[in-house]
Amino acid sequence: MIISIDGAAGTGKTSVGLLTAKRLNFQFLDTGKIYRAFTLKLINNKVKSFELRIISKFLETTEIDYKYEDEIEEIILDNKNVSSLITNKSVEQNVSQISKIPEVRTKMTTLQRSIVKGKKFIVVGRDIGTVVLPHADIKIFLTASIEERTQRRLIDKKGESYQNVYESLKSRDQIDTNREVAPLKAPKGSTIIDTENLDLGEVSNKIISLINYEPTI
Ligand code: C5P
Repeated sequence: MIISIDGAAGTGKTSVGLLTAKRLNFQFLDTGKIYRAFTLKLINNKVKSFELRIISKFLETTEIDYKYEDEIEEIILDNKNVSSLITNKSVEQNVSQISKIPEVRTKMTTLQRSIVKGKKFIVVGRDIGTVVLPHADIKIFLTASIEERTQRRLIDKKGESYQNVYESLKSRDQIDTNREVAPLKAPKGSTIIDTENLDLGEVSNKIISLINYEPTI
């Protein structure tokens, strides 16, 4: 069984997904971390988003692995755990430009499908219910205003100004929503949950209420 959760940055996908996976005893996959890891690789090698030929070469040689064990996520890039590096500012500023490249999406989509094949998974991202796993059993699309999402992000990004976080979210929203391949949008057959005034537990309850599983905690 697959539950897909799509939505813009700051809608709570990852936190809600992790909590729901724990409650249902499902595996969890955060596909944003995969795009972030590949972006980190390009940054480390000083490759720019317009250097498509070089990016193609890197796609062939880069190994990305995602592990979720004992409720801990690990993202492995070329055998190195890069979990703590993929949230840095430079990754944040470049990831949407890299993610809109069709070849990058093809490779990451194949990887994501292979990770979840045949298992019980909660998968979060931007195009999971639309492109990666359109036959997901339950499809969720989370929303919240950009002001609320900025406030949520500020809690993690200590020391950053409201305006910087707001602009960064706005820029990523814009690129993710308007790209030609797999843009961010509510999948057909999805349940849209406005998370503006809900806490994580409430959103998770709504998701669980859509299936026949009883939460274990
Ligand atoms: O979810 P997160 O904010 O970590 O995602 C980082 C970026 O990765 C997004 O802004 C988007 O550009 C890209 N992404 C994507 N497709 C996904 C997940 C993330 O294009 N399924």
